[in-house]
Amino acid sequence: MSEQHFASDNNAGVCPEALKAMLRANESGHEVSYGDDRWTQQVCDRIRELFETDCEVFFVFNGTAANALALASLCQSYHSVICHELAHIETDECGGPEFFSNGSKILLAQGENGKLTPDAIEALVTKRNDIHFPKPKVVSLTQTTELGTVYTVEELRAIASIAKRRGLSVHMDGARFANAVAALGVHPSELTWRAGVDVLCFGGTKNGLPVGEAVVFFRSELAEEFAYRVKQAGQLASKMRFISAPWLGLLENDLWLKNAAHANAMAKRLSDGLADVPGARIMFPSEANAVFVELPEPARRAMLERGWRFYTFIGEGGCRLMCAWDIQPETVDRFLADLREVSG
Ligand SMILES: *Cc1c(COP(=O)(O)O)cnc(C)c1O
Repeated sequence: MSEQHFASDNNAGVCPEALKAMLRANESGHEVSYGDDRWTQQVCDRIRELFETDCEVFFVFNGTAANALALASLCQSYHSVICHELAHIETDECGGPEFFSNGSKILLAQGENGKLTPDAIEALVTKRNDIHFPKPKVVSLTQTTELGTVYTVEELRAIASIAKRRGLSVHMDGARFANAVAALGVHPSELTWRAGVDVLCFGGTKNGLPVGEAVVFFRSELAEEFAYRVKQAGQLASKMRFISAPWLGLLENDLWLKNAAHANAMAKRLSDGLADVPGARIMFPSEANAVFVELPEPARRAMLERGWRFYTFIGEGGCRLMCAWDIQPETVDRFLADLREVSG
């Protein structure tokens, strides 16, 4: 069996169906460039069918660009974006959202388990309304969250409702959107535009694509001139079909959801197993494909020495064990067996 780790779902390779779709696109010979090809058109149509609405779809190379450019399209430079203090746009994008929006400020809210709450948003929006403070214009939430929890439909609706009342757009960082849909077992539209989400950054990389994320606008006026932003940011692929075509492999037969459901199930297996490891403490409800666990320092070090890879700097500390789309039950069991040994 090939080597597997829990460091990140982007440590995993490409899922075979996505690769096959890419090869199919290659075999068709010359194609029109910059996204006017039939593969890109097909994927955009598939995404519109998937969401049951006439959304505008764009492809970029990575999630940072997707978030930064989407937020820039929702903001003027004097606006602000409300998000959770642990949000990827705040902690892991090197100021990309501020840069591409020419200075929009990010306002941080606290909330349990990595989630924004309507009250926290309301407090930030109403704190100041004078001209000296950047005007709140967007709520950005991450689904699934940076702590591996999932917003329910009701929670999303409550957040969107306060956003609408206060004149804010709603942006969703969906780097792990698939894991949320699989975890909740609801239609993707229920977690997005039907709940009041205006723009979704739909992650594909962590779900088995080689590269590439989709930016999906559910209100077409927000997508006006977005193509220019993508180009200016150096995010417009000339051979776009090799970014878009692999999506066909993921979307066919709902493979994107099967990949996500598998990853979620492996995280469940892992967290169930951790429950009776002496000294291990699960930190947050493990609702999708991540498990955060506090381990005694000697056990943590011993696991790293045995070659296991996982991050310890994400969220509120502890060990983040991230299950990729291809993680095998045997990998989970070997990890648990090793951990029991070093903890015993
Ligand atoms: C991985 C991830 C992204 C995308 O990151 P890139 O490395 O820029 O592709 C965005 N948001 C969240 C929450 C992520 O985990």
